[in-house]
Amino acid sequence: MNMFCFQCEQTAQGKGCTLQGVCGKKANTSNLQDELTSKLIELANCGEKNEINTELIIDGLFTTITNVNFDDKSIKKFIKKVQRNIKCDTNFDIKTVWDCNEDTRSLKSLILFGLKGMAAYAHHSRVLGYKDNDIDNFFYEALQEISKNLPTYELLNLVLKTGEINLKYMQLLDKANTETYGIPEPRKVTTNIEKGPFIIVTGHDLRDLSLLLEQTKDKGINIYTHGEMLPCHAYPKLNKYSHLKGNFGTAWQNQQKEFDNVPAAILFTTNCIMPVKDSYKDRVFTTSVVEYPDMVHIDENKDFTPVIEKSIELGGYKEDKKMTGINGGDTLTVGFGHKTVLSVVDKVIDAIKSGDVKHIFLVGGCDGARPGRNYYTDFVKKAPKNTIILTLACGKYRFNDMDLGEINGIPRLLDMGQCNDAYSAIKVAVEISKVLNCSINDLPLSFVLSWYEQKAVCILLTLLYLGIENIKLGPTLPAFLSSNILNILVDKYKIKQIKTPEEDLKELLSR
Ligand code: SF4
Ligand code: SF4
Repeated sequence: MNMFCFQCEQTAQGKGCTLQGVCGKKANTSNLQDELTSKLIELANCGEKNEINTELIIDGLFTTITNVNFDDKSIKKFIKKVQRNIKCDTNFDIKTVWDCNEDTRSLKSLILFGLKGMAAYAHHSRVLGYKDNDIDNFFYEALQEISKNLPTYELLNLVLKTGEINLKYMQLLDKANTETYGIPEPRKVTTNIEKGPFIIVTGHDLRDLSLLLEQTKDKGINIYTHGEMLPCHAYPKLNKYSHLKGNFGTAWQNQQKEFDNVPAAILFTTNCIMPVKDSYKDRVFTTSVVEYPDMVHIDENKDFTPVIEKSIELGGYKEDKKMTGINGGDTLTVGFGHKTVLSVVDKVIDAIKSGDVKHIFLVGGCDGARPGRNYYTDFVKKAPKNTIILTLACGKYRFNDMDLGEINGIPRLLDMGQCNDAYSAIKVAVEISKVLNCSINDLPLSFVLSWYEQKAVCILLTLLYLGIENIKLGPTLPAFLSSNILNILVDKYKIKQIKTPEEDLKELLSR
């Protein structure tokens, strides 16, 4: 059976996966995900705008993100639910987009993949009770436009509008997370694991972690974050649980190695799940939109008893176990969201004015398996000592166990949080530019981003919407960008693929 998917960075030969996904997605699953996407577009065209349909659109798009759902049964069930709510005669097949001329395909892909990433942020806000009907309506509008024949300039405007709306969703999620769990505070997190039963929680969902912490308190089970859950340690209402002990392992692409025979239960709350190996398949649990064939799925009632029982049965390590990050460090510092950084903004501005801080780099984004991603470790190692590194998302694991020291009491490495906390970086940049009375592009600030899946796409669109120039993107450029569309981005925004850390540092520091 054939398939076509080119939505992520690891797509086959930099062109598209056509027989099986490099991510492990089978052709059948990929085609079902295309069918689901087509049905969601039909729903946007032919369904009422109401809460049920909005949720179907948001969760349906989230289901099709890379490394979220490998389970054909659950995707088929979802398609049926969507079909029931399509109220007029309509027929749309997303494959017609894959077959369009390459510029239209490129722009529609940018919009669709941006919507998928944004759907993840909308989902996380909604589970905490934070919704905004006005911005939700954009999902209907944009999906409808994807099904129409539109000129390039209209599609280009819609690409930027997707970035604009994504900024609003990131803002809403920031509000949801901070009003529910408190303002993130700087904290040190260990990578070492204590003996005894434990549960590893991965993905991005703060609510799932919070519910699990409540259900496991006083049970003699320790909880460790993994991957993008690491920033949870910074939230006071999550950190208050003494059995939230530390962080297990590194970024998602190392999970098959790091979970091999681990004596603990593993809960996936969202992506990135990889094909599950035999050595740990009896201890993997999924919840929410993430599903994998034959793994136990925890439903919306969020009764984590099977996860708890499995962790007790496995018993954890017999002795305390020393583990490190990829550079050998065993302490990770988190909690530099916009409120914390802005509380010392005067210090940062003084350091910029005095020349003590020559440049600020935002180095982060999604991590992945390609060897070229060592660039990000090398970039941070080679960045001069009078520079500050802001970071976010799982790309930080390339360097977050290193001690980079301080400048005038300001840590050189500031972990702002999950990928959606790009909102924090934007807020800090805007505030500094206001005080210095210049544009963001005039600040001694550069974006050096790694991308992998569709959340990285919506963040990139937000940065473009804000007019941010000179972004370095890697390790490769998206396969879905046609040469004409890439040229537009290069001409207008001076976006470039990463080269070597030395060349890029030289160029960015001379700006
Ligand atoms: S998600 Fe990525 S790796 Fe998986 S099938 Fe699509 S392009 Fe290929
Ligand atoms: S930041 Fe991207 S690549 Fe990393 S875990 Fe999250 S979704 Fe996956």
